[in-house]
Amino acid sequence: MSDKLVRAISKDGFVKAAAVSTRELTERARQIHDASPVATAALGRLLAAGSMMGNDLKGDGASVTLRIKGDGPLGTLLVVSDNQGNVRGSVQTPQAALPVREDGKLDVGGGVGHTGTLTVIKDLNLKEPYVGSVELLGGEIAEDIASYFVESEQIPTACGLGVLVDRDRSVLRAGGYLIQLLPGAPEGIIDRLEKGIMEAGPVTKLLLDNDDPESLLRRVMKDFELEILETVPVEYRCYCSRERVSRALISMGREELSSLIAEQGQADLSCQFCDKVYHFSKEELEGLLSSM
Ligand code: ZN
Repeated sequence: MSDKLVRAISKDGFVKAAAVSTRELTERARQIHDASPVATAALGRLLAAGSMMGNDLKGDGASVTLRIKGDGPLGTLLVVSDNQGNVRGSVQTPQAALPVREDGKLDVGGGVGHTGTLTVIKDLNLKEPYVGSVELLGGEIAEDIASYFVESEQIPTACGLGVLVDRDRSVLRAGGYLIQLLPGAPEGIIDRLEKGIMEAGPVTKLLLDNDDPESLLRRVMKDFELEILETVPVEYRCYCSRERVSRALISMGREELSSLIAEQGQADLSCQFCDKVYHFSKEELEGLLSSM
């Protein structure tokens, strides 16, 4: 099944929710980065969150960037989503490996680190992007995302994210949900939501039973009548181009670029997010230098 995202609202109008299945795009990310199981799980969770947060943005060309800087061996994780929910991502040390936890699960919190920051940058094509940052709660990512919404946007939020990696390291299941209270929601709704979430159980188990995002949402919110607003396909999508890479080279500065030309004579630059490599000959690099 291809990856897709659903967006819904409760019939009473007090709760909005999104869910996404991301097996294919997470597998694509794993292959691009040759990621270890724990790196795949961490990046996969952040990709699912980014997809749902990106799809929530209005306006052409809007995007959201999620950056987690933790003190764990994976280093910095970065995910960018367009306003449809198409995502790309990278992890600083994708080969970092950790022993599985005592309960048999991948140690995402240990990989990300238990302290650090989650930064969210929403670029809505206004003059300045909106930037919010929170301290990590434990590096398991879903609760860090929820904490971001509560602290930075004052929106009560429940988030569940899950990635199951198979024995051959490929991605078996991936996805998640994001549930938020709308203004005016009466007290007691949170308790009903939390009760449903508790009863539904872990996201990975829900995904394993059935990873259709609408089904996922209906099981997590079974006490609520849901109206599905949209269902859209999502995928791993990079927007890199030769022009962007050229701009990155120019931003290195005259001195750095000159020494690159002197030392290497040419450059092969790989995209941070996908498997594209951009080759620049000596003449092309000198052209960039003289354009500065
Ligand atoms: Zn790319």
